[in-house]
Amino acid sequence: MKHSKYCIIGAGLSGLTTAYKLLQNGESDFIILEARDTIGGRLSTINSIDFGAAWLQNYHSNVLDLIKELGLKTFNQYTTGKSILMYNTMAPPHYFESDPNAPSALRIVGGSLALIHALAEKFLDKIRLNTKVERISAVSQNATIETNNGHFSAEKIIITLPPKLASHLKYNPELPEHLHREMTTTHTWMSNAIKVGINYKTPFWKTKGFSGTMIGQVAPVVELYDHSNYNESVFSLMGFVNESLRELSANDRKKQIITYLEKHLGAEAKNYSLYLEKDWSKDEFTSVESLNSYYLSPKYGHPVFNSFYLMEKLLFSGTETSPKYGGYMEGAVNSGVIATEKLLCKTLNSS
Ligand SMILES: Cc1cc2nc3c(=O)[nH]c(=O)nc-3n(C[C@H](O)[C@H](O)[C@H](O)COP(=O)(O)OP(=O)(O)OC[C@H]3O[C@@H](n4cnc5c(N)ncnc54)[C@H](O)[C@@H]3O)c2cc1C
Repeated sequence: MKHSKYCIIGAGLSGLTTAYKLLQNGESDFIILEARDTIGGRLSTINSIDFGAAWLQNYHSNVLDLIKELGLKTFNQYTTGKSILMYNTMAPPHYFESDPNAPSALRIVGGSLALIHALAEKFLDKIRLNTKVERISAVSQNATIETNNGHFSAEKIIITLPPKLASHLKYNPELPEHLHREMTTTHTWMSNAIKVGINYKTPFWKTKGFSGTMIGQVAPVVELYDHSNYNESVFSLMGFVNESLRELSANDRKKQIITYLEKHLGAEAKNYSLYLEKDWSKDEFTSVESLNSYYLSPKYGHPVFNSFYLMEKLLFSGTETSPKYGGYMEGAVNSGVIATEKLLCKTLNSS
């Protein structure tokens, strides 16, 4: 059984932030167990399209500091030109232009996954992919972690799964009732989202004076944005698919989406070079259920996640546990920083 001082479960932004910070503090005896065959979790950039998180705000200071520290750069979301608002299927579209002086949402040069790769660069050898944690036990001095890919032991475990997903693991001894209840009722941010990304050989919408922004609760894509890359070598539109299309066949959904784009941006919309979708509700490593829209802002960072559990060996982290900006990348980084501080403080107190 492989033993480490710290075992981090989940190689998403939160888990990797903790690993990065541990290493910065001279703690290199850790292992990261990740169920997927890739790192990043809800950060997923494919063919230059961000199918998970895409935008930061200028007040997301922890993640912006980290981006700077890692030598990465951000750029403004493209919003120049006519944007389209569809508020009624019967009414003509409404055109509007964004205020060029309003603070812009920021994107990461190279896509959000660039942040993940830069973070993990120094400890790739400590990440075990395809390793799905199934049970955590704390019956002796160390905790044991049972996975589909062997058993591990550690002094401290940091679990970064969305709490609802983490509630489906087995724990020995069982977790306290109040904690289990909070885990099962904490909504997993964006777990119901379906994203679509479409690449084109040219940014034909820009040439025609459109920004690429199209908003409409009644439309097949409720929010669409230009998602061309920073170098302007890949031209993309990316957005959130109307959940009413979830149960259609992939082909029928694509037809509706492309027809909608043709109608409003022009016939060029059907000449895409790549069309991809990602339904997060069907991703077993993010979501445990297929929910309908969750438009209310969920409450994150419940104090129940502040404590250690399982004989002081288990700590919860991840964006949904963050008292600030929970749900966002900022929350994931924040939770990773807080978890590291708690671990280092515990180590200091027990030595
Ligand atoms: C569609 C979408 C759009 C988003 N847009 C934005 C945005 O524009 N801006 C923003 O700030 N945020 C956005 N977010 C949120 C952002 O992606 C998250 O806040 C952040 O990625 C969460 O990181 P995390 O490490 O807390 O969790 P996760 O990324 O979920 O990491 C948990 C990790 O645990 C792994 N795991 C799961 N089960 C197991 C198991 N049994 N054993 C081992 N490993 C396991 C998972 O594979 C995953 O890698 C978006 C999210 C989605 C899905």
